[in-house]
Amino acid sequence: MKQRCDMDPKLYERYSRQILFTEIGEAGQRRLLESSAVLVGCGALGTALANLLVRAGLGKLRIVDRDFVEPSNLQRQTLFEESDARETLPKAVAAERRLRAINSGVAVEGIVADLGPKNAEELLRGFPLILDGTDNFETRFLLNDAAIHLDVPWIYAAVVASYGVTLTVRPGETACLACALESDAPSGRDVDSQAAGAGAEETCDTAGVLGAAAGVIASIEAAEAIKLLLRNTESVGGRLVSFDVWSGRYQSVRVARNPDCRACIRRDFRYLEGDAQPHLTMCGRDSVQIHERRRQLDLAELGRRLAPTVAEVRENGFLLRFRVPPYEMTVFADGRAIIKGTRDTSVARSLYARYIGA
Ligand SMILES: [Zn+2]
Repeated sequence: MKQRCDMDPKLYERYSRQILFTEIGEAGQRRLLESSAVLVGCGALGTALANLLVRAGLGKLRIVDRDFVEPSNLQRQTLFEESDARETLPKAVAAERRLRAINSGVAVEGIVADLGPKNAEELLRGFPLILDGTDNFETRFLLNDAAIHLDVPWIYAAVVASYGVTLTVRPGETACLACALESDAPSGRDVDSQAAGAGAEETCDTAGVLGAAAGVIASIEAAEAIKLLLRNTESVGGRLVSFDVWSGRYQSVRVARNPDCRACIRRDFRYLEGDAQPHLTMCGRDSVQIHERRRQLDLAELGRRLAPTVAEVRENGFLLRFRVPPYEMTVFADGRAIIKGTRDTSVARSLYARYIGA
């Protein structure tokens, strides 16, 4: 039996099953209670992950999210309730409230914000671990740039339909997201198509998503997070893990660092500097225009993919128009889009990420 040092008996009792796990023990639990992390995005992955980490007893968790709770979130976003959707509470607020009720010993801080190049470092600085609960690659590459710039580990995770992937990045030690997805190296290309499937080509708003898939990936992400917070780094990072709960297929592929990586070698932080951000401009009285760069879209294919989930899809070879009440989206073959029905650029960006992909 392990010696009980001077941990408060109530705390010891609360975390006893985790303390009995020898890889954590009382010393590990103490370290966890003094640790902190910042989570960006509080949807299916983010809620499952936050739930696990707050119950495990990390010291502080900051949650950054730009969205509101909607009824369609409740099937998989495990921290939210019907009343949150009725009140259209910001997810960061609803999550903070629920997590404080789950574990009042954890300092949970919900921040309603759209993380972008201008505020990324301010929101992420001071935390020894950054967690990905986002739903688009634009923000993930921004997290990758910011984490490398701040020299802080981060955990990438994505899920769509019945499938998800995760990769733990330790800057300077393991492959980063750009090594994995921007590289021409064979290992990079291997994972490219898999990872693209979990966010770039299809999105949860077109292909759906199972709560079970998010739960598996969030669980792997939570275990990686705990290992990192315990500074047990030998077994962490460098492998892209994917899991399909429908087919039962599971893969764990070592990702090599790209010796010419834009981000972790050449330190070209274009997402952090904002160069790679789509430009958003007001267009008319009630529309926002998104100018995407160098992005060729197959409009006919996009139209077929969107048809089951959106209304009034029309495509004429030059543009694709469809309705997501109360919005109307018009998409051009070069990736440009006009979102009618809002003047809020974060709403426009969110709709673009949902239906066109990021
Ligand atoms: Zn890299």
